[in-house]
Amino acid sequence: MKALDELTFDNRFARLGDAFSTHVLPDPLDEPRLVVASNAAMALLDLDPAVAETPVFAELFSGHKLWAEAEPRAMVYSGHQFGGYSPQLGDGRGLLLGEVYSEAGEHWDLHLKGAGLTPYSRMGDGRAVLRSSIREFLASEALHALGIPSSRALCVIGSDTPVWREKQERGAMVLRLAHSHVRFGHFEYFYYTKKPEQQKELAEHVLSLHYPECMEQPEPYLAMFREIVERNAEMIAKWQAYGFCHGVMNTDNMSILGITFDFGPFAFLDDFDAHFICNHSDHKGRYSFSNQVPIGQWNLSALAQALTPFISVDALKETLGLYLPLYQAHYLDLMRRRLGLTTAEDDDQKLVERLLKLMQNSGVDYTLFFRRLGDEPAAQAVAQLRDDFVDLAGFDAWAEQYTARVERDGDYSEAQRRERMHAVNPLYILRNYLAQNAIAAAESGDYSEVRRLHEVLSKPFEEQAGMEQYAQRPPDWGKHLEISCSS
Ligand code: AMP
Ligand code: MG
Repeated sequence: MKALDELTFDNRFARLGDAFSTHVLPDPLDEPRLVVASNAAMALLDLDPAVAETPVFAELFSGHKLWAEAEPRAMVYSGHQFGGYSPQLGDGRGLLLGEVYSEAGEHWDLHLKGAGLTPYSRMGDGRAVLRSSIREFLASEALHALGIPSSRALCVIGSDTPVWREKQERGAMVLRLAHSHVRFGHFEYFYYTKKPEQQKELAEHVLSLHYPECMEQPEPYLAMFREIVERNAEMIAKWQAYGFCHGVMNTDNMSILGITFDFGPFAFLDDFDAHFICNHSDHKGRYSFSNQVPIGQWNLSALAQALTPFISVDALKETLGLYLPLYQAHYLDLMRRRLGLTTAEDDDQKLVERLLKLMQNSGVDYTLFFRRLGDEPAAQAVAQLRDDFVDLAGFDAWAEQYTARVERDGDYSEAQRRERMHAVNPLYILRNYLAQNAIAAAESGDYSEVRRLHEVLSKPFEEQAGMEQYAQRPPDWGKHLEISCSS
């Protein structure tokens, strides 16, 4: 276990120099205080969890103090936003403080979001509000606990600094961890600004540090692109299987590592709704729940375009063609597991599709349905779920097929089935209304609800005593909440 001043820095991205990022010091927040910290994320840096409660912790992660070895930088990138190209974006309010080298031999970027103005702030104020910082913190740690690749979050620091959004709010900072903060948009920036040398440097940096196994391949850059395609297919399959809607899948928000990144107006589905749009500035539904699948491919083709200096167009096209089949295979595999199936049959995809259609028509809670389906005995679990459906004949027909399919599946006990299903079907997810309750309390100075919710979501598959209220459908006020896109 380390104290805060014992972290070892090795700032590899900063060493790429001024063409890639600009030195900027964080602009401190007034009266910083710890809102919440993640012990699991602290462990990634070998930090003793007790240090989170020390005053210096809040000072470091609110811009008041800096390690001597830190090299705070704002990165430059661009990206496609809602399908249109924005030639210059960059870290407008976040700083890469440095890279910490852990005892496990891993490098972790420390990225401080909400750290003040940078050369890339454009019209923005460089700040992040408490509400959005809490949402990013809870989502990254909750996704990780579900087994969905994501950036991590070390802590949220609150403050008295006023920040103006639709109304006056308070500034906060979230400390984000990831092995890299390189986005698809980094490659697009150097491609569209016609800087081939820097683009090569960036590509070599990503290849050698993050995809070293690809360097053994005959065409290392192609191997790397293939790996990125595979990781995106798998990540998006997990989003779809667990009902996560990202909301702003612009290419500047897509990580080169295939992890969920840059949380804005995201949401987990309550009722199953394939057409759900969580971002209410997304008038055309470009990033609706079901559109995430083709958008994943669209984003990969935008990256492919930026990689044309290194890889032939034919090879890029062929590799892009792997995305959809890989996605489908991962998705079906996960959905089979969610249904408790251990074998594969040709009609399983149809079984899933029919179920989702019935759920859609009846507004069935997506998370609780699968959790309860795993209860024992199976026949009784199915019978009890029937009440949630409007189209009873439709559900009965599905249930008959499902029950027959389970019988053909394998010879296991009811208890084994239950255990297997509960291990993949969470009881607790980050419902918007739960986040909203925790935020409302935090805005009035009570951080206990954020901390409790974070704790519950860190073990989403485990039934926790006294936490029934976190495993409920939303109350009427909490359905279809309008989440502000300003953050
Ligand atoms: P986002 O939609 O949060 O992914 O941000 C898109 C771009 O706008 C990125 O370049 C951000 O750094 C920048 N940005 C967002 N909010 C602010 C802000 N309050 N101040 C400065 N830049 C911002
Ligand atoms: Mg972003």
